[in-house]
Amino acid sequence: MSTATIFARIQELATISEDSHCLTRTFGSMAFIRATQLISGWMREAGLITYIDNIGNVRGRLVSKNPHARTLVLGSHFDTVTNAGRFDGPLGILMALDAVIGITIDLPFHIEVVAFCDEEGVRYHTTYLGSKVLAGTFDPQLLALKDAAGITLEEAIHLIGGCTDQLKNDSIPAAAWLGYFEIHIEQGPVLYEKHIPAAIVTAIAGQQRSQLVFKGMAGHAGTVPMEMRQDALCCAAACIVAIEQWALQHREHVVATVGTLQVVHGASNVIPGEVSCSLDLRSADAAMLKQGYQELSQLLSAICTNRNIRLEWHPVQETAPVHCDPLLSGLLEKAIQSTHIQTVKLVSGAGHDAVAISTIAPVCMLFVRCFKGISHHPLEDVEADDIEAALQIARNFILQLI
Ligand SMILES: [Zn+2]
Repeated sequence: MSTATIFARIQELATISEDSHCLTRTFGSMAFIRATQLISGWMREAGLITYIDNIGNVRGRLVSKNPHARTLVLGSHFDTVTNAGRFDGPLGILMALDAVIGITIDLPFHIEVVAFCDEEGVRYHTTYLGSKVLAGTFDPQLLALKDAAGITLEEAIHLIGGCTDQLKNDSIPAAAWLGYFEIHIEQGPVLYEKHIPAAIVTAIAGQQRSQLVFKGMAGHAGTVPMEMRQDALCCAAACIVAIEQWALQHREHVVATVGTLQVVHGASNVIPGEVSCSLDLRSADAAMLKQGYQELSQLLSAICTNRNIRLEWHPVQETAPVHCDPLLSGLLEKAIQSTHIQTVKLVSGAGHDAVAISTIAPVCMLFVRCFKGISHHPLEDVEADDIEAALQIARNFILQLI
């Protein structure tokens, strides 16, 4: 397969959407089913033993004659966010497929290419459904989750032809894993700014999401003197800037984002009495996440006390950082060096299927430069030369394992 074929296939997948105006392909939709058929056709054509498992992962195996062979899994996801770019997910699937097509020798291990069914979690607001099944960590309680139309995950799985009783049989047992390797676009601007085509991922950042509620006192915008106000919005604004300043001071280790802001009963002639906002804190260092939570809660409490505002801090979600396997990453580094590309090591601020797989197997990841770091947007783009360079690295990496 050539880079041109990879591009053509990415383009073909991008035309399979549940929305005629943009690319949106969520778990279990008609577009999703069409994509599974297209991808399984490509896998079959590549000579892989191909099937769609019960959660909807498309899986193609290259089988070793070694009776004690373990399995190296290569893959990425084919579901998308709403109004997505073309490369987020499919690039990793098609490059994995390309990397195994050239293998003609007897392998000492099995290779399985997996197109994961649900990494973005758009429909059921829970991520990694496919990779959790592969890792054997899928929680059956998730089957009761309902989408916006009231359809449960269990019903959605039946509708795509899966059997929920069989999900546990779709996992690869811990002892059978050799490792997991994923190629993915960077989704950030570092490689673009550095003019480097690809990088090793050392870790995937842990996340701590909270909801902050600022409670003051609503009042008449015309009659309450400035010094007598308990303006929840002004307090929230001061806190948001303080969060940014704190994160800038610790920028080597952490990023912090306030992405939503609601003014309860907001009106132009009312002093805001209650405001809530989100806080998303990410770091590859678990201790830093904990320290961040402590330092920010002290910092924000002081600002709120000064302004006579009550602060409520509600934890929403917490995931631990994932560290990529040093041994596999070392081989990936050698593979990069053999292509004479400068070695760059990055922490992924975004989650990936490797997070779910890391609970059961060693994982490693290669990031590919994308145009200006743009992702989750139709402008998402990747240069053909970068795909070629990353393919060379992937082939060198697999050859070292043989
Ligand atoms: Zn992705």
